[in-house]
Amino acid sequence: MEIFSIKNAKKSFENNLDVLQDISISVAKGEVAAIIGPSGSGKSTLLRCATLLEKMDSGELYYSGEKAAWNNEAGKTVYASPEKLRQIKSKFGLVFQNFNLFPHYSVLKNITDAPISIQKRKKDEVIQEGLVLLEKMGLSDKADAYPFQLSGGQQQRVSIARALAMKPDILFFDEPTSALDPELTGEILRVIRSLAAEHMTMVIVTHEIEFARNVADRIIFIAGGVIVEEGNAESLISDPQNDRTKAFLNRLQ
Ligand code: ADP
Ligand code: MG
Repeated sequence: MEIFSIKNAKKSFENNLDVLQDISISVAKGEVAAIIGPSGSGKSTLLRCATLLEKMDSGELYYSGEKAAWNNEAGKTVYASPEKLRQIKSKFGLVFQNFNLFPHYSVLKNITDAPISIQKRKKDEVIQEGLVLLEKMGLSDKADAYPFQLSGGQQQRVSIARALAMKPDILFFDEPTSALDPELTGEILRVIRSLAAEHMTMVIVTHEIEFARNVADRIIFIAGGVIVEEGNAESLISDPQNDRTKAFLNRLQ
C-alpha cells in the first residue's frame, strides 16, 4: 500500500531556478527510504514540498491515496482546501535538522501540544501517551525540563517523540544528526533504527551513508535537483551504476 507519493515535482526560487526538476518518489507502508546527495542538491526543498512547508510550481502530492496537490490544465500545482490540508498534515511528521522545539514549552508540552490543540484529542490520554513516548526515548526524567536544559541529542529525541505523538503514517527526517556533536549521533541513529524495526514508514535525508545502508530498504541519490540513481540500499552503496553516484560515494570515504 502506498503511503506517500510526490509526482513530477518541480520547484524554482526567484533567484534559484530548477532546484527540483521533475522528481518522483513513492513510499510503501513500512518502507524506509533514505535520500542522499551533495549539499545544495535540493533534498531539504524536496522534504519541504512533501510536507507542505513549501509550494511546488508543478507536480502532485498524495498521502494514502488522498490528493494533497495536483496539476491544473496549465500544469501548475493546485493545492487542496485548507481544511483538507489540515487533515493531511496529521498523516505525517517531520523531524528537522535543528530540532525546532518550542523553547518556552516544557518537554512534555512540546510533545502533547499539537495532539491536544490541533488533533483535539483527549488531554489525559495524550499526556499518558506522551509519557510513554518519553520513556521510549529514554527521557522519562525530562518531562518537566525545558529544551535549553537538554543536550542536542536529547532535544532531537524530544522532537522525534513530538512527531510520533501525532500518530503519523509516515515520518520525514531532514539530516537529523547533522547539528549534533559526533558522540551524540549514535543515540539518534539508534532511535531511528528501533522505529524501522517497528516498521515505521520513513523517509530519511542523511549523510550517514553506513546508517542509510543498514537501515534503509531503498536509497535515492539526488544531485542537481534530479534523482540520479535509486535502488536497493545495499547494492546502491556497494555497486553504484552512475558515475555521479560513484564520485559522490568516493568523496565520502
Ligand atoms: P540540500 O538540502 O540538498 O542541501 P536545499 O534544498 O536546501 O539543498 O537547497 C537547494 C538549492 O535551493 C540551493 O541552491 C539553495 O540555495 C536553494 N534554496 C533553498 N531554499 C531557498 C529559498 N527559500 N530561496 C532561494 N533559494 C533557495
Ligand atoms: Mg538540506
